[in-house]
Amino acid sequence: MKEIISEDFKDALLLATDPDASEEYFPAYVAPFWQDQKLVATDGRLMVAVDEELALKYVSKPACMDLDKPNVDEMLHTLSDDSKYDLRRDVLEKGIEAVPLKDYGECEECHGKGEVRVDYTAKNGEKYNFPVECPICSGTGRVYLHPDQKVPVDKFPVLIDGQYFRSDRIYKILRIMQLLDIERMSYHTDKDRDEEDYSKAGFRYRTDDGYYIYIAVMPNGIDEGKAFWPYDKCLRKKDAVKIKLTPNGKKKIR
Ligand SMILES: [Zn+2]
Repeated sequence: MKEIISEDFKDALLLATDPDASEEYFPAYVAPFWQDQKLVATDGRLMVAVDEELALKYVSKPACMDLDKPNVDEMLHTLSDDSKYDLRRDVLEKGIEAVPLKDYGECEECHGKGEVRVDYTAKNGEKYNFPVECPICSGTGRVYLHPDQKVPVDKFPVLIDGQYFRSDRIYKILRIMQLLDIERMSYHTDKDRDEEDYSKAGFRYRTDDGYYIYIAVMPNGIDEGKAFWPYDKCLRKKDAVKIKLTPNGKKKIR
């Protein structure tokens, strides 16, 4: 990892959060948090964890954080096993190019709601605050994207090591690797460990100083009824973009 700037580091962590999550019910998804000597960011499906000492080079630690946190250790457990394969960034970049691009993006004015609120003061002095159709997107919540702003669609299936993942999560992993200047990460999975409908997979990067960055991601079932989240059922096997892993070279193959 070359010198990375603090802003890129923060952006990489924020990619794994869900800024629209409910602060009341899922406070841990809204912003990164510190736990077990790690800085962690997650939206519940994708998670990035960075060794505290490494993270402190780029961000400061707030005095106190009191959150109902997810079980990070459980998610990281998979990522401590041995690995035979690496995910290479150049291979991922090429693979993501095959995922179709979005024509439309969420309207930033109304955050996709199609409504904005306005204040109005009547002649008698009474104040009103009410929703109106968003003038930027005409109430659709979507705006047409300029070719330079286009990103891969969210729910295209990406196949890695026999498991299907949503394209938006894999694209986020690529962005995180780019922002943190990571060329390759070791690949870990527990897919053979049990008979669950879903399993965990993830990637691990070791800096020259011996610190770790972890990225865990949840695959999605493809077949009807196997999908863990109902809205992911539109993933279709036949369309899948395949990302090949690279043997990590610990054992030379003759
Ligand atoms: Zn709008």
